[in-house]
Amino acid sequence: MKFDRLRQDMVEKQIEARGIRDANVLAAMRKVPRHLFVSEALMDQAYNDFPLPIGEQQTISQPYIVAEMTQALQLGPDDRVLEIGTGSGYQAAILAQIAFRVYTIERIYSLYTKARKLFDQLGYHNIVTRYSDGTTGWKDESPFDAIIVTAGAPEIPQVLVNQLAVGGRLVIPVGNQYVQELIQLVRDENGVRQINLGGCRFVKLVGEYGWSES
Ligand code: SAH
Repeated sequence: MKFDRLRQDMVEKQIEARGIRDANVLAAMRKVPRHLFVSEALMDQAYNDFPLPIGEQQTISQPYIVAEMTQALQLGPDDRVLEIGTGSGYQAAILAQIAFRVYTIERIYSLYTKARKLFDQLGYHNIVTRYSDGTTGWKDESPFDAIIVTAGAPEIPQVLVNQLAVGGRLVIPVGNQYVQELIQLVRDENGVRQINLGGCRFVKLVGEYGWSES
């Protein structure tokens, strides 16, 4: 089928060719039908090398960015992962192929309900969804082995770091409203370490520990 071929091509030319090596990430991206996470009018472009609009002025990230962020989370099969910014649900679907369970939070109601329906249709039963401001995390389900923020933050919310298990990894774009740096933070017994993975561009993280509404 057409989309199958486009998807295998995407993984080979955009993801493997640029150095993503985590076998779990590659397998997940070969499997999840990315075209179902965009509107019908954009399906033919779903496997191209750029982000796409998903309504409400939000975007589904470029495939390579999804792969890079997922690899940086260093996921294993027993991990519980928190995602802030469900959006289309594509990133959560990728995480769900690798991790034990994914908790994902979205602040825009229409995106939240749409993603929830899609997860049910596709049988992704290890994704738990929530409609709220994700900048305060999900205390009741913490600590998490990994946390991924898929919107750009002015700074790293300390409350999210506090919800990381010892040994946990946080991946978050940090910067101004136009460009950010992708930061990987690792929490260990001695505290936290940060690695800058390079420049990126995300929509705004809006909420109590993000940008204000306007
Ligand atoms: N991971 C998504 C990317 C969506 S874009 C995907 O794979 O499609 C970022 C999303 O973060 C948007 O849907 C936006 O509404 C959401 N967002 C921004 N601030 C948020 C917050 N404080 N809590 C939860 N979601 C937030």
